[in-house]
Amino acid sequence: MKYVSVALDLALDKPLAYAVPPALEGEVATGQLLRVPLRGRAARGFALEILDHAPDGVPPEKIKAVLSIEDPVPFFSKPLLDLAKWIADYTASPVETALRAAIPAAVLKRDARPREQLFVEPVENPKCEDPSTPKRRRLLEDIRRVGGGWLQRLSKEFDVAPSLFKALAKSGHIAIAPRERRRNPLEGRTILPSKPLPLNAEQSAALETIRNSKRPVLLYGVTGSGKTEVYLQAIAGILARGGGAIVMVPEIALTPQTVRRFASRFGETVAVLHSALSPGERYDEWRRIRRGEARVVVGPRSAVFAPVANLGLIVVDEEHDSSYKQDETPRYNARDTALVRARLEGAAAVLGSATPSLESWLNAKNGKFTLARIPHRVRGNPMPPVRLVDMNEEARRTGFAPLFSSELLEAIGKRLGSGEQTILFLNRRGFSRSLVCPACGHVEKCPACDLAYTWHKADDCLRCHICGGWKRTPASCPECGCGELKRAGAGTQRAECALRKCFRHARILRMDADSVARKNSHDDILAEFRAGHADILLGTQMIAKGLDFPNVTLVGVLNADMSLNLPDPRASERTFQLLAQVAGRAGRAELPGEVYVQTFSPEAPPVAAVARGCDFEPFAEAELSVRREYAFPPYMKMAVLTVRSEDESKAAAWAEYYSKALAAFAGKNSALSMNVSEASPSALAKADNRFRMQVTVRAPKNSSIVAAWKWIRDSSRPPADVRASIDIDALDFL
Ligand SMILES: [Zn+2]
Ligand SMILES: [Zn+2]
Repeated sequence: MKYVSVALDLALDKPLAYAVPPALEGEVATGQLLRVPLRGRAARGFALEILDHAPDGVPPEKIKAVLSIEDPVPFFSKPLLDLAKWIADYTASPVETALRAAIPAAVLKRDARPREQLFVEPVENPKCEDPSTPKRRRLLEDIRRVGGGWLQRLSKEFDVAPSLFKALAKSGHIAIAPRERRRNPLEGRTILPSKPLPLNAEQSAALETIRNSKRPVLLYGVTGSGKTEVYLQAIAGILARGGGAIVMVPEIALTPQTVRRFASRFGETVAVLHSALSPGERYDEWRRIRRGEARVVVGPRSAVFAPVANLGLIVVDEEHDSSYKQDETPRYNARDTALVRARLEGAAAVLGSATPSLESWLNAKNGKFTLARIPHRVRGNPMPPVRLVDMNEEARRTGFAPLFSSELLEAIGKRLGSGEQTILFLNRRGFSRSLVCPACGHVEKCPACDLAYTWHKADDCLRCHICGGWKRTPASCPECGCGELKRAGAGTQRAECALRKCFRHARILRMDADSVARKNSHDDILAEFRAGHADILLGTQMIAKGLDFPNVTLVGVLNADMSLNLPDPRASERTFQLLAQVAGRAGRAELPGEVYVQTFSPEAPPVAAVARGCDFEPFAEAELSVRREYAFPPYMKMAVLTVRSEDESKAAAWAEYYSKALAAFAGKNSALSMNVSEASPSALAKADNRFRMQVTVRAPKNSSIVAAWKWIRDSSRPPADVRASIDIDALDFL
């Protein structure tokens, strides 16, 4: 008798064993979707492992038998099953949540089916040669000329009613039968084929490194350095050897232009996975990949699971991007998951960025990754000069801190006069809850962590979300004594108003979460700007990524400091990434560009580094030594445990309990060097009507954190209205 362990779709955290009945012997395989009995009902689950005997301690007669196989073709290959198990172990989440994350919902739901439509084909040697009427005769000639096609499309093309087709079918001249018709996300778009572009010396060297490296490659290339062409040629090499490739792109950068670049080079073998696809399109694309019809997959973080056979290469573009981290269970980081998948499948891995994450940079320094550099822009045009506008001086001169400095206004005015375009960027990363002195820009920081405090309105306290430390909000600015600390930040709407007052005739486009709420309006706004229908594009970080506007010669950053004051160990890194990306938008074509950065902290390392021409390497070195000093990532693994409850006192009591229990575990296992914070309200202290408390855990190894958490979780029973969840390798500290 054989047995099979099955991961049920019920967040049980433990696969159950079932017997393989004689009728299904030799049929059941790992990765299949099975129907099994569970508490008197039928449930579905994935076969994880075939077992030769019943699990220890369970009498074989107590084990129920598999009911049926839902689909004989396994949903998961062995490496993909192993990948799901790795995610479950690494993120302390049930394996079935990882399996579910790997398959589009439409595939698992029974309502997603192949789309069938009527297909018309001429019949060879029909019994009677000539149709009875001239109309029918003409139609038959047309059908024979094109060789057949979809009924719907032909009827439109020839301007003939479907009934006439049916008449021809009845007389035996043509055959009409349902056929599966793919829902193609690129349908209706003209995509012209493209040929490989000649590479410059730096690009060629990078391509060679990718082809030869035995380790993952970190491709560090400045904005506009032609990384995508290098990816394209690396993929072409893999395809030529019969392999497949996955290209991961941050969701927001997955624009029609990005997709077109891949589709025009590789044609029909490109599949796109995207959250904006209809469920039917996603279902069809996924099945094309699974059948091997599509061998190049372009998509956001979930593309890491695409069932590409014979995987030869995974590219993670903009590898530093925080959207690769899933913010619900399982909280995997798709970049790290891609590296594990590449290892499991023996594929090459490339992480590309103009501003690599410090995790990857450190890996390159340590020799875990091979570093490939493209330090120059492909067209040879220099990075635009970056001018810092010291808002302290502006405030001294005018008596308050305006949204726009006179220098920036003057630069905008010049562009309006010459018909060139301007992009203005308002830094609204996450949401800032720190207090800023409006007179001098001072922000109170936690002395232990050197990070901005978060203001909690309820008890008027400043709290540190890393160590749990806190203090009362001072009555006036401790730095200059004159200001009262205030909530920072102005919205894009206010900026638009101020701008309209200064430039009455300017055509201004605004892009923020409100204005792009409609589907596709993101693309519409950009297309309008590209076509020259506006002078100024004003927006949040949405406009920072991967866009190429030849007529933009001025980029202005209104408030560089906003992201510096996030309660986040990566605040400096994030600021550098944002500013470098924004600066890269200027002067990409023939016209030279200029960048203005308004800041209260011109000496802050990321701001100063961007002013020196987006000088990443020295910035990264300096930032790494700060991280080491404060025991932050990448030197430490860092997890955030969040406790939620509608009852504030229960949330607080359980957060405290977990903090103490984790600290006790750390004390007993001192070799793990684990550091546990006090429990404190989260920066987002209440959401969805639930109070949120958090505990931060740090250790050199993630496995220590996971072991500690699992031990405590499994030995405690919080009441039903208290929920605790752990975010491993947390990127958000809200
Ligand atoms: Zn002040
Ligand atoms: Zn602190």
